[in-house]
Amino acid sequence: MTDMTAPTQTFSRKRRSNWQLLMANRLAAAGLFIFGFIVIVAVLAPILPLPNPDITDQPNRLLPPLTAGHLLGTDHLGRDILSRLIWGTQVSLLVGISATALAALFGSVIGLVAGYARGATDSILMRFVDMLMAFPYILLAIAIVAALGPGLLNALYAIALVNIPFFARNIRGVTVSIRNREFVDAARLSGKSHAAILFTEVLPNVLPVIVITMSTTVGWMILETAGLSFLGLGAQPPTSDLGSMLGQARAQLFTAPHASIIPGIMIFVLVMSINLLGDGIRDVLDPRLRSGALDRPMAVTKINRKAKPAPTLENAPALVVENLSTGFDTGDAITPAVKGISFRLGKGECLGLIGESGSGKSVTALSLMGLVASPPGVVTEGAVYVEGKDTFSLREQDLIALRGARVAYVFQDPLTTLHPLFSVGDQVAEAILAHKSIGKSAARARAVELMERVGIRDAAGRASAYPHELSGGQRQRVGIAMALANDPDIIIADEPTTALDVTVQARILELLQNLRRERGLALLLITHDFGVVAQVCDRVAVMRHGEIVEQGDTQAVLTDPQHDYTKRLIACVPELGEGHGFLDRVRPLFQEARR
Ligand code: ADP
Ligand code: MG
Repeated sequence: MTDMTAPTQTFSRKRRSNWQLLMANRLAAAGLFIFGFIVIVAVLAPILPLPNPDITDQPNRLLPPLTAGHLLGTDHLGRDILSRLIWGTQVSLLVGISATALAALFGSVIGLVAGYARGATDSILMRFVDMLMAFPYILLAIAIVAALGPGLLNALYAIALVNIPFFARNIRGVTVSIRNREFVDAARLSGKSHAAILFTEVLPNVLPVIVITMSTTVGWMILETAGLSFLGLGAQPPTSDLGSMLGQARAQLFTAPHASIIPGIMIFVLVMSINLLGDGIRDVLDPRLRSGALDRPMAVTKINRKAKPAPTLENAPALVVENLSTGFDTGDAITPAVKGISFRLGKGECLGLIGESGSGKSVTALSLMGLVASPPGVVTEGAVYVEGKDTFSLREQDLIALRGARVAYVFQDPLTTLHPLFSVGDQVAEAILAHKSIGKSAARARAVELMERVGIRDAAGRASAYPHELSGGQRQRVGIAMALANDPDIIIADEPTTALDVTVQARILELLQNLRRERGLALLLITHDFGVVAQVCDRVAVMRHGEIVEQGDTQAVLTDPQHDYTKRLIACVPELGEGHGFLDRVRPLFQEARR
């Protein structure tokens, strides 16, 4: 909708480019700077005023650094070390990068074909790769050079060959996961050939992985080339690379250490800078790292309030939210998602929070207990009082102790919130054990009891079932059982019935309703459906674009809505046999969206 795309656009404009992200990573930027400098000097070697690196000068052997005419001194044949270093770096870079390109090309093709074709092709290709991997690779490289004969080009082939398995395995793994995706099926149905699918559908999705693998292995390959040359199997005189310089200077390690230390430092700096840069590139290209998902989220949402509200509130009802604002840090600015909302919820009361998708309901719910992931979430204003105490002023441990004990959550889709590898009984028991120190078997018995309470038939038997073995309604009940595990005072239910059909929805709502009556639970029910609000809630707050536009008794709001948006939301509640009327009422929403 128009109003909703507007913030998205500002969001993407503010989103930093790959280049900015890379530069923001100081280590990667330093790596890039050093590597760039080395490459430029190596490329400029022919036009730099350097003496010929191969001219020997016996009388001036092993001169120390800073000698006139020889900035870094001379080696055992009187050759200028600076000149040899720069030319040698050029050779090392050329060989290392070419080997990486070759390994990436062949490895990727093998990986793509094996992963896409599966079956016998996959088995044969991967067993070949396994065979290569079965040898320690530097030994394999030495064996290959021994067979082909020493020389730079043969060293290059050997290094490329032994690195093919890394690419092949990585790329195959990614390809296997992509080949079964819907867009590949769609391409297949549209009549594209396998080759076309592989290159136009699969390859673009695999490309970042290829680039990441290249950037993280090129340093290794330079090091391996240097290793072969050090052993005399790579660069042959008079050509020299960094490895052969090191190898030749080894004999004078004690009399003239500079001759070996200088190329040694060069190898170190070069490989180090490439690895720092490579890690930076990986962080930028990997969408999981990019979104910050692997950033360690904090246990509590970041609080950055301009004004600090009173830490306690006298005679407060169960939950008081005052002027709460939560936003998301996009790097340059904080995009607000919830803007200064206030509401109150008394004991035994049910408040409905209603609004269209994206209006900020979930962010509100998560903000209450500091559960919005930070980064990027930040609470920028306001206070949330639970039993009169501001949760944002609490210490981290106190807030964690409050969660699930006094204030519990029921989430929309329990299939994603329940752990797939533990039985539901264990998970309910875990919720109990998080706050009470009772024995394991006691917790388990209590879990079964809770599951009975929420109406799961044969609870004792079902407790050992895994989430995927339950129906949607049963899973939702398990979610509610977990929320009830520690007799909370407040339950925040974020669209608890959206994933369910109407009959199960009715039963779940009735269950929440009963619990509320029996135990005086305060219930914050988040939904986008006025029908649900009408059934369950005493009061309702209507949310739009992060603001509460209207709030009041459910009956009053339903019969006499003040805000235009509320009127249309109410009009959207379908009545049986009024299909046409429903569309007529929804249409103004679309039209407004288009404007
Ligand atoms: P809903 O009312 O459907 O529950 P949400 O509360 O999930 O909506 O989202 C409200 C707004 O906050 C949306 O515009 C959404 O794009 C934004 N938002 C939610 N989570 C994040 C996040 N992790 N990073 C950036 N923006 C977010
Ligand atoms: Mg939501």
